[in-house]
Amino acid sequence: MFGKTAKEATRNTERAVQRCIDPSCGSSYGLRERIYVCPRCSGTLEIDCGLATREDAAAVRRRWAERAASRDPRDQSGVWRYREMLPFDEDAPFVTLFEGNTPIYEAPRSARYCGLNNLRLKHQGCNPTGSFKDTGMTAAITQAVVVGARTAVCASTGNTAASLAAYAGRAGLQSAILLPRGQISAAKLAQSLDYGALVCEIDGNFDDCMRLIQELGDDPSIYVANSINPFRIEGQKTVAFEMMEQCAWQVPDHVVVPGGNMGNSTALGKGFQELLDLGLIQRLPRLSVIQAEGAAPLAHLFANLDPSKSAGGERLPETMAPVENPRTLATAIKIGAPVSWKKALRAVLRSGGKIISVSEQEIADAKAMIGRDGIGCEPASATTVAGMKKLVAAGHIRPGDSVVGVLTGHVLKDPDYVSHYHRGTLSLESGAKEGSAPQRIAGAFQNAPERVAANKAAILATLERRR
Ligand SMILES: *Cc1c(COP(=O)(O)O)cnc(C)c1O
Ligand SMILES: [Zn+2]
Repeated sequence: MFGKTAKEATRNTERAVQRCIDPSCGSSYGLRERIYVCPRCSGTLEIDCGLATREDAAAVRRRWAERAASRDPRDQSGVWRYREMLPFDEDAPFVTLFEGNTPIYEAPRSARYCGLNNLRLKHQGCNPTGSFKDTGMTAAITQAVVVGARTAVCASTGNTAASLAAYAGRAGLQSAILLPRGQISAAKLAQSLDYGALVCEIDGNFDDCMRLIQELGDDPSIYVANSINPFRIEGQKTVAFEMMEQCAWQVPDHVVVPGGNMGNSTALGKGFQELLDLGLIQRLPRLSVIQAEGAAPLAHLFANLDPSKSAGGERLPETMAPVENPRTLATAIKIGAPVSWKKALRAVLRSGGKIISVSEQEIADAKAMIGRDGIGCEPASATTVAGMKKLVAAGHIRPGDSVVGVLTGHVLKDPDYVSHYHRGTLSLESGAKEGSAPQRIAGAFQNAPERVAANKAAILATLERRR
């Protein structure tokens, strides 16, 4: 087991602390302190698990592989199977829907599209509620139970809300989702309603909802599971462990992920760094993050960064200019001021990756190409393949490199988008003044339904024409 020497604490929760990531502060706090930012400097917190192992890498890998074949509910989760890496004890009240365990696919058509010899896509949309948020929410809701909360809350219209509602339901906790009144899309909230969440329609905008969430966080009965929650990052980092097992511990040259609030990229970076620190891998994959052009504050910052001055991620800029009116049809990454930007930027710089943006057309076409490989994903997920195509063209990724893309959400999360693309009617409302024309997105790989006569010959003829 990890840390079995007399001097080291044997319980994970005794070794782990919450720590401010600002190097000039670096304050640390106990795990049970219900803080969401550093009380001293308002900096972002992360969890330092105090990991140290006296085992050799082979023994750890073997134990994880054995657990994958076990019937213990903790082992059937693709998150809790790696529990010695997490800030919870063996006897924690795990709340699980058997998240993780997501497939990694060869994607030959998408590879060709990008100019790569090979490409693998790890599909986090195959989680219980259809997005990677579940791998983090299992940890956050378990922590909510540990600290004795009665209600879990967040402000989100999308996948976070669905995931929170499901895990709270699983734990028998109440859940509440705060949303601005009149801005609620029924399709996105359907899951949350089904999982029994209280959906509060607030008279105000999204910022008002965020402010309310912060105020609610002071109440001891309430647990806040928004994007800044460091326990979510802990659960999400296990995707790096599972990916390495699926790659037979051969470190890929590049790992590419979409970027919204940057929790996912932060978590992957942390996961790989911990594997490196423990000697389970010998080098880091280059981690690249792709944003949508209309919501790309970190890509802008990155483009203007002087890498020689950032000291491999050890010296980070103080501020990032937010995007005031983020615009993209990839709603899961429609974020103007990503909360975890510093942690993500640090991980990208340490690994030697890039942060770039892609256009709406590039996202839409990449999504259709991923679909041709038989893999259905949400628009935000397709930024990965769109981004790789650009990074190959720019020479950052070489055609023979080994590349893994992370698909973040399931195709059925946003069926309207898919339908419009294939019928050639996809468009993005103009963010500019009222009345200016929406931006049309062409269905370059359009696949609209065809009207075919009700006879065998007509169907065969159509098939022949489309062959
Ligand atoms: C949340 C989400 C993202 C963005 O992840 P961040 O951690 O906010 O960067 C991307 N795609 C999907 C499908 C998501 O649900
Ligand atoms: Zn601090």
